[in-house]
Amino acid sequence: MTIAEIFETMDYGTAPESSAMAQAWLDRHDRAFGHFIDGAFTKPGKARFDSLSPATGAQLASLTEATQKDVNAAVAAAARAQKGWADLGGPGRARHLYALARLIQKHARLFAVLESLDNGKPIRETRDADVPTAARHFYHHAGWAQLMETELPGYEAVGVAGQIIPWNFPFLMLAWKIAPALAMGNTVVLKPAEYTSLTALLFGEICLEAGLPAGVVNIVTGHGAVGSMIAGHADVDKVAFTGSTGVGRLLREQTAGSGKKLTLELGGKSPFIVFDDADLDSAVEGVVDAIWFNQGQVCCAGSRLLVHEAVAERFLDKLKLRMATLRVGDPLDKSVDLGCIVDPVQHARITRMVDQGVADGAVLYRADTPLPDSGCYYPPTLLTGVEAGSTLAQEEIFGPVLVTMSFRTPEEAVQLANNSRYGLAASLWSENINLALGLAPQIKAGVVWINCTNQFDAAAGFGGFRESGFGREGGREGLYEYVKPAWQKSLKDAPEAKPAKLVETGLGGLSGIDRTAKMYIGGKQARPDSGYAMPVVSPKGRLIGQVGHGNRKDIRNAVEAAAVALGGWQKASGHLRAQILYYIAENLSARAAEFEGRLREMTGASAKAAATEVQTSIDRLFTAAAWADKYDGQVHSVPLRGAVLAMKEPVGVLGIVCPAEAPLLAFVSLVAPAIAMGNTVVVVPSETSPLAATDLYQVFDTSDLPGGVVNIVTGHRDELSGTLADHYGVDGLWYHGSRDGSARVEKASAANLKRTWVNNGKALDWHNPTQAAGDALLRHATEVKNVWIPYGE
Ligand code: NDP
Repeated sequence: MTIAEIFETMDYGTAPESSAMAQAWLDRHDRAFGHFIDGAFTKPGKARFDSLSPATGAQLASLTEATQKDVNAAVAAAARAQKGWADLGGPGRARHLYALARLIQKHARLFAVLESLDNGKPIRETRDADVPTAARHFYHHAGWAQLMETELPGYEAVGVAGQIIPWNFPFLMLAWKIAPALAMGNTVVLKPAEYTSLTALLFGEICLEAGLPAGVVNIVTGHGAVGSMIAGHADVDKVAFTGSTGVGRLLREQTAGSGKKLTLELGGKSPFIVFDDADLDSAVEGVVDAIWFNQGQVCCAGSRLLVHEAVAERFLDKLKLRMATLRVGDPLDKSVDLGCIVDPVQHARITRMVDQGVADGAVLYRADTPLPDSGCYYPPTLLTGVEAGSTLAQEEIFGPVLVTMSFRTPEEAVQLANNSRYGLAASLWSENINLALGLAPQIKAGVVWINCTNQFDAAAGFGGFRESGFGREGGREGLYEYVKPAWQKSLKDAPEAKPAKLVETGLGGLSGIDRTAKMYIGGKQARPDSGYAMPVVSPKGRLIGQVGHGNRKDIRNAVEAAAVALGGWQKASGHLRAQILYYIAENLSARAAEFEGRLREMTGASAKAAATEVQTSIDRLFTAAAWADKYDGQVHSVPLRGAVLAMKEPVGVLGIVCPAEAPLLAFVSLVAPAIAMGNTVVVVPSETSPLAATDLYQVFDTSDLPGGVVNIVTGHRDELSGTLADHYGVDGLWYHGSRDGSARVEKASAANLKRTWVNNGKALDWHNPTQAAGDALLRHATEVKNVWIPYGE
């Protein structure tokens, strides 16, 4: 017999992990659970639902469906505990987080087995990935608690965090949510997914063992409606969600106008790109990790395989050979590669999507992988012949199903990769460092893995662009999701300046005024599409000018101009952007007297106040210019053979709606940092005092600012902000207006999940640099992309 023949006759035996410990834990609780509220378990309630094993269909436990009363009790407990928890100080909280981490490690085996039983994922994954990474999250954030006072000075806890997590990484997602929230001094009410609540309940028990103060962590179980109750509760200050884009949108709408902070970690259709010079064998192993880890039920799964045409056939042959070695079976068997799909409902969904894709022409390949006779198993599946725009290539299947396409050039690879409404992650495989690092900035994804995939660590941020949601979890960037500036609570209501009596007239139709200020689009003066103008009047009612009455069409033109300008502007060096901002400052300075006069005329400001506003505006331009080449990213240190570049990237096309007050200073304070960071902007200036802003176009024209970087559309604030919020080409929207207007902007932005920053009717002190310059603004103007690169041995 040859060695090859011997291998062919060999088979793996099973290596089952005992479930006895987890079964005993369930028995100890009589397999019936209430909620974990205020440091104690409640009695199991009347309304119950079952937690089933996806491998056997057996009932593992009966869980309680939370009522509004339960949610109220949990939120009240969290609210009562919050001040004491925050007042404990960073070092005090660090000790608790550290104790939780230690206890997770102590009970690691119980957590791993319980998770595999409940979710159906292989024990190898829960044991080697989910549970250790969860423990690491608590250790890492114990450190951030310790350092909070020195590293985040001026920030404080948001308050009570409502956290809603999915079923694909039940315990790990709990750790991602709870560890940073507690570290920063928040208390939490968490709802696990109805399919997989058991490890969250076990965590409740760990909180007791760790002596965590009552009410700091509260866990309520139930269906989606319970999540909605938490998000809608008036005393919840922050909502953090991981799950489907559909529910993410609902939560954006539900929390609109409430002032609650929101992070959404949603779906994805992440590209896995293999170039012809890649180490193909490593890349095949990468694919296995990318799409068959956790049965492909991973938000950042590399579910779209894009292969260079020259190696596509060879690569797919290798992949098919590898697929033949994958083993599917009992999640508690240590030698299986894939376990179960979480629930028959998800299994049916995957089956439906694949069957439809095949009916539409996709070609299906499966190795001859034996599946257990019963249980919720789905075989590793490869689909070729898939059109880039098809449902299979665009929609999240959330199962062990890979679709593949080929490309000819790096440009085509980028185009295919970005042809998605999502932007969560991407994996690039090439031995050419120039190619891989050259493409990383071009891929629209919050995480880019180079020659690796599905890497996670507490020190590195994770989160998406576009409809994959917003906010980051992990890393320094993730901490800001759970804090707010201490000055925020003392902000006053924004003065709702009385809009001018908007008598509409044809352009130039008013007599006695010097001129009509045009809008500024694509570097040119533009007449309003409506052909109408609005008067600008002084506080005493004197007509001092008129501006164009911008409409939907003007906004569309401006967004188009901003989108065209974006490519060049974001690629321009920080140094160049700084030079242009300095130049704008210099030119504004040369015309200071004229702008002072304009401000006095429009707002009735004293000579001194007007001079201060102009000088502070010049100062803001200098500050933004100074930051343009200094607002650096970070290199995250992760415990793997690699480093993570946390790169700050512009958000893209930003809509900026200015407040009525401080018409020059607010405009400049908002626009300067936005463009310094590489964004292009469509700005709606103060509705009542727009002339200082429209006068700025002459300054821009003489300062080498490329056309389309700043576009100015005058008109009714809330009408134009509505159009900006609806527009799919706008990536982010800053709104400084009324409370109602803030709510409308947040609600409308749910359509493409654009990033919003609204003032909820509160006025920033535009003269205060802590509030209106530097970090406070720059953070809104950037997104962090985490790029994992090989580094070290
Ligand atoms: P959901 O988004 O519905 O579930 C995620 C969490 O949100 C669960 O705790 C769920 O509760 C809860 N929830 C459901 N509806 C609401 C609501 N209206 N308000 C507040 N919370 C709510 O995901 P599904 O479980 O339905 O999975 C469907 C698809 O979503 C998957 O096939 C996959 O494509 C995607 N998905 C993406 C995930 C990701 O990590 N990005 C994770 C999970 C799913 P409950 O489960 O109890 O109903």
